[in-house]
Formats: sequence, structure tokens, C-alpha cells
Amino acid sequence: MRKRLTISAALTAALLLTDPAGAATGAVGASGLGDSYYPQYGNGGYQVSHYDLRLKYQPATDRLEGTATLLTTTTAALSRFNLDFALTVEEVQVNGRKAGFARTGEHELEITPATPLGKGEHATVVVRYSGVPSAVTAYGFTSWQRTPDGGVAANEPESAWWWFPSNDHPSDKATFDVSVLVPDGTQAISNGALVSQSSRLGWTRWNWRQTKPQATYLATLAVGRFEIGTSVTAGGIPVFTAYSRDLGANAGAARASLERTGELTDWLSTLLGPYPFDTVGGYVPNTRPGYALETQSQIYYSPRIFAAGSNTSIVVHELAHQWYGDSVSLDHWSEIWLNEGFARYAQWLWSEHENEGTAQELADWTYASKPAEDPFWTVLPGDPGPDNQFHAAVYDRGALAVQALRNTVGDQAFFAILRGWPAERKYGNASIADFRRYAERVSGKPLGDLLQTWLYTSGKPAAGTSPAVRAKAVQEPKSWSEIKATDSAHDTH
Ligand SMILES: [Zn+2]
Repeated sequence: MRKRLTISAALTAALLLTDPAGAATGAVGASGLGDSYYPQYGNGGYQVSHYDLRLKYQPATDRLEGTATLLTTTTAALSRFNLDFALTVEEVQVNGRKAGFARTGEHELEITPATPLGKGEHATVVVRYSGVPSAVTAYGFTSWQRTPDGGVAANEPESAWWWFPSNDHPSDKATFDVSVLVPDGTQAISNGALVSQSSRLGWTRWNWRQTKPQATYLATLAVGRFEIGTSVTAGGIPVFTAYSRDLGANAGAARASLERTGELTDWLSTLLGPYPFDTVGGYVPNTRPGYALETQSQIYYSPRIFAAGSNTSIVVHELAHQWYGDSVSLDHWSEIWLNEGFARYAQWLWSEHENEGTAQELADWTYASKPAEDPFWTVLPGDPGPDNQFHAAVYDRGALAVQALRNTVGDQAFFAILRGWPAERKYGNASIADFRRYAERVSGKPLGDLLQTWLYTSGKPAAGTSPAVRAKAVQEPKSWSEIKATDSAHDTH
């Protein structure tokens, strides 16, 4: 569940894969990876294995200073390559030598090493930078959320550009060390485990470590005045929670929801397999927009999510993403159903567990409440397009597709698939086609027609309706309003 800010400028699909003029000394790395939704996101010619981000942030002025050290491996001989970044760059080094650099396009940083890089070479890239993220725009917006006591980076698909240079595409995942210096009395939150903190001369350094591969859009940074809590789940997973001291009337409901994180993680583990990361948690800063995002092992929730009261359903949704989206990541932004269809379906399973409506009842209600002429049915969950990437149909029709799969293969095979897929592709990337092959192998049933009907065909499918739908005997499940509250939180910027 998240909100994508509208990108008004048309994205160019032109990609420079090689530069004939540079052929003698290595090619120019592509300025984008050619993702059909966001062609300029990510870059060609290398992959990143680790980000080391050493940051200093002053909440009073929103000034961020940083040194990013990227461990990369080239996939081609390179005379030049790009990172994605929007702040002001002061210096770039490649393998310890000063490199040339230039800012181009909306978020491109072109880097020319002193000597060209060979194919398969390890290259250490150091970028020194600074800026006021809330004042920096790309495509006319900033993803950095300024708060009265700090700032927050948490958005999909783009948020990295405002706080660290990266190869910004989910197909290139890496481990992270994030070290943040903030004034004493202020807290800094990022992904993974808080490994240490120390104070000196009025500033406190917070050291965070994510040891499992993480997509750049799932990296988060929050600075502000938080109340921090730690615990351990019954299953042994360390839990970290943080609440802004400025949540007002939403404070109680936010806490009553996030304090269930450990219990819900253990419950999801019984369905989806062992929790894939070393730590789990969530934080609620004093931001204004109303959405949550499955930032890896440290989930972002805006306070407005809890304006109508506690909501464990959204905690289940974001936690389910830790398996479906974070550990197993899409390899292309069009494959978003692999994230949202399953995270929404986990909410339906939680409803079933809580006796607030079975998944089938939620499927029936979802199906029956949208008439055939509703434009909802024209959005294809399997390829919604960039403008509809987070349309309600990706979630609701996406979960209907999962229910149709369950009904087709039967509960035994379905729950084997639900649990087996995150193990099959743990810490990797995958497509819907990969999922189909896996589900067909486990179930022994051909699933092409089913997925074609529910994911790729415009119009309300006639197939998959249950006897209750045919008898027009569908009632609104008790959990419906809580699940829908996770939707209404969507577009409230
Ligand atoms: Zn989601």
C-alpha cells in the first residue's frame, strides 16, 4: 500500500546501450534499465552489492550531508556510467581516484572514471553530497516528507534520489549500512537492526544494518523525535517500533496496531514460511499524507492510516510484503500483482482467522460490489500501466485472482504454493511468468487460462463466481471497512 506521486513529464524511452565512439575504451552505461513503466530508472553496465551511507542531518534546516560508498561490479567494460540521484554532488571517486561527473536529466548522475573499467571488475564508487531534500524536485515533485521535527524518505517507486545515489531499480538489490548523525534528543531510523548508537558533542550517531538484499525503494530514512520500543516475538525475531511524539489523537490507535507486529509476524510465518529478515518493525512519523509502505523490515505508516481507529489489517498487509515484494522482489514494475495481490490476500486470510469474513466471502463481496460497467474492471492487475500501478484493481482484482487460484488448485496445493514461493525465490527477483511456472509445478494444473482471465483480460470475468454470488446472497464481511480503510488512506496528499 503506498502512493505514487504523479509524474507529469513524459518519460523518454530512448536508451543508450552502447556508445560506438567509446568502443575502444569501454561503452557508456545506459542511463536507464529500460523498464517499460519507468525507462530511466536504474542504470546499465554494473550492479551494486552494498551501500554504505554515512549521513549527517540537521532537522532545523532540513540539510542532509552524506558520503555514499557503493560496492559495484561491472557487467560491461565502461568508460562512463550513471547513478540515479537528485541532491548536489560535491565529489566522486572511483577506485580511490577522482572521477568526472555531471548532472543530467531529472535524476541522472553521469560518472566518468579516471580510467575506464573492465568488464566484471569490482569498482568502489564514493559520492560526497549535500542538499535540502525538501527543496529538491525531480519531475516536479519531491518524495522527501518534511516534518516539524525532521524528515522522512518512504515512497514507491521513487524515494532514494532524495537521500542517496543508487542504481534505482528493484532488479538490483544490495545490503545496506546506514549511519546517521543527528542532534542529541533526535532519533534516526532506517532498515534492519540498530547495531549501535553513540553521542558526542551534542550529536548522536545511529548505526543501522540491513544484512539481506534490499531494493532501493525499500530503503527508508526517518529523523525526528520518536519514542522507541524493542521486544522479541514468541518466534524469536527482534521487534523495533518507533512513534513520533507528535501523533496527537492518532497516537493510541497507531500504537494499538503496531504493537501487534510481533504476533502478526509469527502468524504470517505459519502461512508464508519463516520470516525472511533478521528484525521486524514499524514506525509512525508525524507526516501528513495517508499511506503505508513496506520498507524492508522497518515499515512506514503515516498517522492518518489510524484516523478511524486501530487497524491490524494494514499491519498484516505490510508485513506480508516482507515475503511478497521485499524478499521476493518484482523484476519489472509491471509485475506489481506479485506484491499487491498477495499482500491484499493476506488481509483476507487475517479476516478469515479473526472470524470477520472468509477470504471467499471477501472475494464474493469484492466481485459483487463492482458492476460490470465499472471502469475498475478495465484495469489489468497483471499489467496495469504506470498510471494505474497502484489502482484499487491491482489490490482487489489482484486478490480475486489469488482466490481463483485457490479455488482451482485446492487448499492443499494453494497453501503449499503460498508458503513455497517465498522460499523458492528468497532474496531474489521474479516475474508473474515465473510464478505461474512454479504454481503449475506444485499444483500439477495448467494455470495459463486462469491468469489470463483474472490478470490480463479487460472486463468483469464471468468465471470464478461462487454459488453465493449467483444467488445474489452476498453480504458485506465485517472486516470490509477496515480493509477499505487501507485504501482510503491512499490518495490524500
Ligand atoms: Zn501493498
